Amino acid sequence: MAGSFDVVVIGGGPGGYVAALRAAQLGAKTAIVEKDRMGGTCLVRGCIPTKALLQSSELYTLAKGGQPFGLVADNIGFDWPAAQKRKASVVDQLVKGVEGLLKAGGVTSYRGAARLAGKGVVDVGGDQVQAKDIVIATGSAIARIPMPGAELTIDSDQILELREVPKRLAVIGGGVVGMEFAAMFAALGSKVTVLEMLPQVLAMVDADLVNVYTKHLAGLGGEVHTDTKVEKVVKGNGGLQVQFSSGGEGGAVEADQVLLAVGRVPYTDGLDAEKAGVKLDRRRVVVDPHLHTDADGVWAIGDVIGGIMLAHVASYEGVCAVENIAGHSQRVPDYHAAPNCVYTDPEIAHVGLGEKEAKEKGVAVKVGRFPFAASGRALTLGQSEGFVKVLSDPESGRLLGAHIIGPRATDLIAEAALAIQNGLTLEQIDLTIHAHPTLPESLMEAALAAQGRAIHIANRRSTAAPPAAPTQTAQNNQNREKEMATTIKPSSPPPTPDAINAKSLELTKNNRDFLLGLHRQMQLIRRFEERAQEQYTKAKIGGYCHLNIGEEATVVGGILALKANDWIFTSYREHGHAIARGVDPKAVMAELFGKETGTSHGRGGSMHLVDYSRRFMGGYGIVGGHLPLAVGGAWAVRYRKQKDVVFCMFGDGATNIGAFHESLNMSKVFDLPVVWFCINNRCGMGTPVEAASAVADIYKKACAYDMESIQVDGMNLREVLLKTSEMVEKTRIDSQPRFVEALCYRFRGHSVVDPDKYRSEEDKVKWRKADPIVAFEHELEKSGLADEEYFKNVRQEVDAQVREVIDFADESPDPNVSDLYKYTYAGQWDNRPELRAERV
Ligand code: FAD
Repeated sequence: MAGSFDVVVIGGGPGGYVAALRAAQLGAKTAIVEKDRMGGTCLVRGCIPTKALLQSSELYTLAKGGQPFGLVADNIGFDWPAAQKRKASVVDQLVKGVEGLLKAGGVTSYRGAARLAGKGVVDVGGDQVQAKDIVIATGSAIARIPMPGAELTIDSDQILELREVPKRLAVIGGGVVGMEFAAMFAALGSKVTVLEMLPQVLAMVDADLVNVYTKHLAGLGGEVHTDTKVEKVVKGNGGLQVQFSSGGEGGAVEADQVLLAVGRVPYTDGLDAEKAGVKLDRRRVVVDPHLHTDADGVWAIGDVIGGIMLAHVASYEGVCAVENIAGHSQRVPDYHAAPNCVYTDPEIAHVGLGEKEAKEKGVAVKVGRFPFAASGRALTLGQSEGFVKVLSDPESGRLLGAHIIGPRATDLIAEAALAIQNGLTLEQIDLTIHAHPTLPESLMEAALAAQGRAIHIANRRSTAAPPAAPTQTAQNNQNREKEMATTIKPSSPPPTPDAINAKSLELTKNNRDFLLGLHRQMQLIRRFEERAQEQYTKAKIGGYCHLNIGEEATVVGGILALKANDWIFTSYREHGHAIARGVDPKAVMAELFGKETGTSHGRGGSMHLVDYSRRFMGGYGIVGGHLPLAVGGAWAVRYRKQKDVVFCMFGDGATNIGAFHESLNMSKVFDLPVVWFCINNRCGMGTPVEAASAVADIYKKACAYDMESIQVDGMNLREVLLKTSEMVEKTRIDSQPRFVEALCYRFRGHSVVDPDKYRSEEDKVKWRKADPIVAFEHELEKSGLADEEYFKNVRQEVDAQVREVIDFADESPDPNVSDLYKYTYAGQWDNRPELRAERV
């Protein structure tokens, strides 16, 4: 039999045969050795035979409940031997299929037990095969426990070969295998009792899903005993008796068959692995991140390396390993989106982060749920038990986990796995058209529910799950989510009325809360900037520090004209813009301090004040460099046929550069929904506007592009807000670009270190008299909506808030150096640990 190969794979399970086929595809001369039947545990004794039988039990259940569907069938019975026969033929067909695939793929198959017999040598029943690389894929075996009476029990292999359905079945072990058999036999009429040592069966599944399943099982007469230790199995009463203890008390269950399903262990018997230099750890083959073992040229995959012991994971690892062998790439398996399926009735499937895990790690998540009872498709199927639950990152909206119990959950999970693997957001899921009526619509509805806008169920007021107390180790890593979620003072913009118009801005009692909210927002921005200036001089803030003091009416009036879904593109370090948009001032100050808790995790050189959840893209460019990006953003909005408006803010200095003209031109030519918002503070980069620009009235520059363009008094809050709102709403309707110039003045020059010598004292005094906050306070006072005492209180309150903001930034941790590349570009490294590894 001797032969010489590039790759020899030991074990023909889903790990081994997939690895062999992929190796052959990559041009390697490949052989596979299998001592039993090709297809391994999965095809012969695991996934396939169990699912074939479960299909029989499901059909039986459906037929029994068929009358309301119009099914007329008397004396429905179940023929177990027939089900067994069908199961065997499905298995045979698939085994033959794998053999055929290997043959067609040019893979040489050897039958026999393989042994590692020296470097590059595999012994198969005395014959030796040469191999440049060897892949161990020997899988796992049934775990046994030293329990009195264990010999009276049957295992998962034996239960598949039973000659009849047991009247009473006891299942020791509430893992996936145990629960699938419990579901199958309960449906076939067995009285099933499950005994589990842990507090919950299916320990890796979220408790709310498990509760639905155990209730269903109870409806079929099944019983589940958790926190229960089985002591022994004895013969008695014409059958078997399982004796157990639970909560200090003893108990017993009578059964005709007892299934012992306490897990599986990696299998390397007869392989002589350690002799060949392969390291084992409690029977598991130890591999490095690239799936290579300690022995040169020997790799391992699948159940034999432990970890997630599932067929699809074994196959995935098989592909990774042989691609690494072929030198195709340096693949490191990424398991974060590996789905888990449990074929109970109802089915259970989950992928990614669980609610319990999120709590333990102190990760804040937004949760959305959708019950199958509200799904048209589930109702037509008559299977409306269960729900879909999604977990997402409150900030980025990225899907982090999905948990489904209900009809075809095991198929539905694929969409969620695809989304998680590719870092998709809830919004991207709900923007995808889902066919109707189908079950996948439920995932879309859960994604909508997490955003408080499900269509086919009433929305909860808040779906954000607060993080629980994190563990000590998690604390350091999870500082951002935790601290942001627990200590934020109200920082969001004042609640805006449904529509901004002259009436909603009248100085009347009805509008009082809103108007006072605007005033507070302006004060907060001003105090923040004054204190930022101090922090800069104390060298707490590096680089540069812009100040917008004096521009508060322009900034608040402009930004509050937007709806939550509109986008803001602005230049770098515009703290006031970020705060007006409701970005947490703590995260803004922390970013200026270069701290981990900052908006960009302190990675932006104190510049990147990006908050995707607020659609605030602050910090991508300088002096108008971000205008073309706003064009790109508006293209995306148009392309998605959304009604959102892109609001691009820049100073007068930016209007002299080519990018300004290109951007305005493009927005007009392509009918893009952008409102260009120029903050003309009259001295861009320290140069008076008259000296820098041929046209001092900036709004006139936009006329050249034939777009509607206006000039507003940027020191008058209500005017800016009203007129900007009108422009924004028009753009929302007709997707035409518009231009607003807000005339204002910056009291402290261009930056903290600007000596402000280019403006005359006269000019300064004149504009100071027009201080927008003071002007608005006069209006509020005159109309009796507030008095000096109120303003004083607000100043004190805001002062205290900003002090807290600084303390927070001061006490926040520095970014971890080893995470340097994380978050630099949103999400890029989070999902691709191998990229990070390479870069770092
Ligand atoms: P295996 O499939 O175990 O294959 C290993 C192969 O190596 C075997 O064929 C064995 O004979 C052979 N072998 C071992 N030693 C040697 C040697 N020295 N020389 C030659 N050949 C050797 N997973 C799922 O993803 N979905 C499911 O629905 C599912 N249901 C399951 C139901 C049951 C009852 C069980 C027991 C398991 C189930 N699993 C399921 C788990 C799944 O079967 C395993 O995770 C999967 O088969 C592991 O694949 P593998 O290639 O690593 O190993």
